Amino acid sequence: MDNITSTTNITEKSYQKIDLHTHTCASGHGTKDSITDLAREAAKRSMEILGISDHGPASAGSAGLSYFRSLFLCERSRFGVALRYGAEANILDAQGNLDIPDDILEKLDYCIISMHRPIYVSGSAAENTKAYIRAMRHPKVKIIGHCDDSRFPVDYTELVRCALSLGVLPELNNVSLLQNSYRVNCRENAILLLRACEVSSCPILLSSDSHGREHIGDMTEAKKLIEEIRFPKSLLSRLRL
Ligand SMILES: [Zn+2]
Ligand SMILES: [Zn+2]
Repeated sequence: MDNITSTTNITEKSYQKIDLHTHTCASGHGTKDSITDLAREAAKRSMEILGISDHGPASAGSAGLSYFRSLFLCERSRFGVALRYGAEANILDAQGNLDIPDDILEKLDYCIISMHRPIYVSGSAAENTKAYIRAMRHPKVKIIGHCDDSRFPVDYTELVRCALSLGVLPELNNVSLLQNSYRVNCRENAILLLRACEVSSCPILLSSDSHGREHIGDMTEAKKLIEEIRFPKSLLSRLRL
């Protein structure tokens, strides 16, 4: 995991310098903001790296494959903020197939893998865990998205063990921890995930999952939780792409 470094200087009421889970209007819901809008806001928040990770094409209303195929043409820096281009790919099935083919993944800076309804039909915890692990096989997969939702149960011990061995980071998703989150039992599950990371010394990535510019870099709820359960700061990691 040579591209992952620890950080211990995360402070309350500050925006994270790096946020790799954000959405633009290309995700087809939740915002009209463009990449430029997010980059401008990231500069205002003194962020260093902004990762754009729109939903894969299986999500209703999201951009088609040509969008993801063309992202490598976009500028690598705007308003003094480094921009990186990824995707939040949908896990499609128990075999861990993704809605973005390997040749397009290859052109992205990184990929987040997530389960979303109704695209992925949940199986047992063992089946869902296997689907995640199989989906990690592509080297551009760097982050496991919001695996904190009881609608998609997983075996955290096994998931974290495989993530660690493959250099993939589980995510502590800020939106999941909001009171009005539509995901289920996220707080309880996030604690199980964090404990599994602690036992295995697996780093975890904080992400905003902001749809639009409003919440980029905002990890307030995630930071509250790690303080509350005294999760080791040495395992709060950031991915430099
Ligand atoms: Zn998602
Ligand atoms: Zn997302």
